Amino acid sequence: MIAGMEQVAQRACTGALPGWDQVDLLVAEAYEYARRSTDGAVADYIPILAQADPELFGVAVAEVDGGRHGVGDVGTEFSLQSISKAFVYALVCQALGHDAVRERIGVDNTGLAFDSVIAIELNAGHPMNPMVNAGAIATTALLPGGSPGAKWEAARAGLSAFAGRPLELDDDVYRSEAATNQRNRAIARLLESYGRIEVDPLAAVDVYTRQCALRVTAADLAVMGATLADGGVNPVTGERVVSATVCRDTLAVLAANGLYQRSGEWLFDIGLPGKSGVAGGIVAVSPGKAGIGTFSPRLDPAGNSVRGKLATAHLSRALGLNIFASAPWRR
Ligand code: GLN
Repeated sequence: MIAGMEQVAQRACTGALPGWDQVDLLVAEAYEYARRSTDGAVADYIPILAQADPELFGVAVAEVDGGRHGVGDVGTEFSLQSISKAFVYALVCQALGHDAVRERIGVDNTGLAFDSVIAIELNAGHPMNPMVNAGAIATTALLPGGSPGAKWEAARAGLSAFAGRPLELDDDVYRSEAATNQRNRAIARLLESYGRIEVDPLAAVDVYTRQCALRVTAADLAVMGATLADGGVNPVTGERVVSATVCRDTLAVLAANGLYQRSGEWLFDIGLPGKSGVAGGIVAVSPGKAGIGTFSPRLDPAGNSVRGKLATAHLSRALGLNIFASAPWRR
């Protein structure tokens, strides 16, 4: 933080979406636009993910006033995967505060793949980026709770509050990943060797693997995103999940890191904070306005859903959501 900046009152990003009917129309348009693409491939490094139907596709929007929209497979469940990193990060920021999380985890893009080990070595063990595996496992280790079971409960309860309904563990996904996640265990051990993880590293990986295996729908993702868009209050349940400051900090981290090493490209094309997961989900957040949730399992080489990116790009443009887009004041 620039010294003294917290003294300056933070004004909210404002503006409104067009009316409900117009948004509904544009969600349908974005769905049709993105559906034409059959590019990309379903993830298979976690064996069970390879079984996903590549044709599934859903686009959902949740507005901060509680308005909901959805087209396609918006009620189909899939595993949260890396999208959990965004919301667990918010929960940990809420528990520890801005400065402590910044010091311990960092906020910068590693520029390397989500499961990179080299990134840890290059940064002398500092995890740096909470949206890739090393930083995310270190973040999970900071969840409130004195035992792995309590941390898991904190993650599950917190993520459920974001979604506005109790999220369940997909046991098959959890077991498939737990049996094949040697790389994540190695990452946690490496963090331990640098003194960057203060709990049992393998227990932290286990909680992380569980949070990734929580089942959500595209409609859930939209509500989870809308909670970050709404200063931390879930617009459907009315529950305050995190503070407005935590939302601001989380969205900044998502803007810089949410789409792995393709985060710059995503920001350039779409101009919104977002987070993707390898099961094919993407959440995007338009601060003060809405959350967008998409699901389509075919991924680009970095692990981001191809149709999800296309649909979100369409909505960002058509709804005027790009946070960098302006028009001259004197027309
Ligand atoms: N659970 C997955 C992993 O750790 C999540 C990765 C992702 O969605 N990119 O490998």
